This record gives sequence, C-alpha cells and structure tokens, in this order.
Amino acid sequence: MIQKSSNFLIILSAPSGGGKSTILNEILQRMDTVDYSISYTTRAPRGTEQNGVHYHFVNERQFEERIASGDFLEHAKVFGKSWYGTSISYIKSRLVRSRHVIMDIDVQGASQIAATDIPYVKIFIIPPSMEVLKERLIKRGTDSMEDIQRRLDTARIELNCIPEYDYLVINDDLEQAILDVINIIKAEENRVSRYSNPMQGFLQEEQ
Ligand code: 5GP
Repeated sequence: MIQKSSNFLIILSAPSGGGKSTILNEILQRMDTVDYSISYTTRAPRGTEQNGVHYHFVNERQFEERIASGDFLEHAKVFGKSWYGTSISYIKSRLVRSRHVIMDIDVQGASQIAATDIPYVKIFIIPPSMEVLKERLIKRGTDSMEDIQRRLDTARIELNCIPEYDYLVINDDLEQAILDVINIIKAEENRVSRYSNPMQGFLQEEQ
C-alpha cells in the first residue's frame, strides 16, 4: 500500500485585520489533521486570552533564554514592540500527534522558516484592497485611528513579501477564503514529494 509519510507546517501570514485568525480557527474546526502552534510572546495577555492556549506568555528574560537554548524555529519583534517566537520542540511534539501544524506568524518570522528541514507551505492572506482593509479595521472598533494608520503602513511593507510565499488567498468572501486554504492543504498533501517511495508501496503486494 502507498503510504503518505510527510507531515508539514502550514504558515499563514496576513496584514492585521486581514481575517487570518478567523480563517485559522475555521481550519482547526474543520480539519482534524491540523494542530495549532502556540507561540511564545513577551506581550501581555489581552481580554480573555489564556496562557498555554492563545500564547505562552513569558517575560523578556525567559524569551532570551529560549533564544539562547536554540529552541526557536523563528522569532521576531512585531510592530516594534513585543517579541514573538515559534518553539521547535513544541512543533515537533504536535507533529507526532497530528499530520500538520498551522502557524500564524508575521512576514519577518516566515522569511526565517526557509532555513528549516521540516517541510512547509507558506500562505499569504489579503483582503481585496487597501480600502477594504481600512474599512475592516475601522469596523472592528478595537484600535485608535493612529493605531489603524500604523497597521496600514505595516501592511504596505508586508505586501512586498508576497513573492516569498507559495500561495496568495484573497479574503473577499470569507467562506471561499477558508475553502481555498483547505484546498491548498489538500493539494499539498498530494505532492509526489510527500510520499515515501510510492512506486515500491504500489508494487509491494505483487512481490
Ligand atoms: P497579536 O499580538 O495581535 O496576537 O499578534 C501580532 C502579530 O504577531 C500577528 O501578525 C501574528 O501573526 C504575529 N505572531 C504571532 N505569533 C508569532 C510568532 O510565533 N512568530 C512571529 N514571527 N510572529 C508571530
């Protein structure tokens, strides 16, 4: 029998307000082959966020110790304020239980992933236009006008990183965007490189 052997990382990036968290939560609900990578961060918990569920919340010293121990697959200072990082040991523990691990990381972190030997696919999500992004951030009602402007300026810079990604999903219609990401994951599962020796697996029972 042919065996699919390879697990892979699914890297999702999007400008703030791009709908990435909603899409990510839907993928986790709909695909039992996907687990979530809980990042480490030095920022304080917001609202109902819980340690070990949304993030592993640590202080700067603990974050630096993790960098020194070599446990970060990638790490970056986001919005010039707080540190965020993905733990290799955490990802590996998840890959044992699940086929894939999905990561929500910024463009700086995503560009560091190229250096890993774990297979990955990089997906960038954007709304159909800057105008729509601005409207969504205003409608969200969680940020001041100054904050919204900062997020839009960051989005302009992040757009330059699109060529480093494998796929671009336009989040115009949310349901369609979710289906697009699911289809990408399914297509990636069928890459020839994801199988270990498919010809031998196919011919095995004949021997
Ligand atoms: P928030 O503070 O709003 O939860 O996240 C802010 C930004 O940090 C988001 O763009 C998110 O993608 C990014 N982020 C979250 N976790 C990580 C991580 O582990 N590494 C990197 N590089 N970025 C992260």
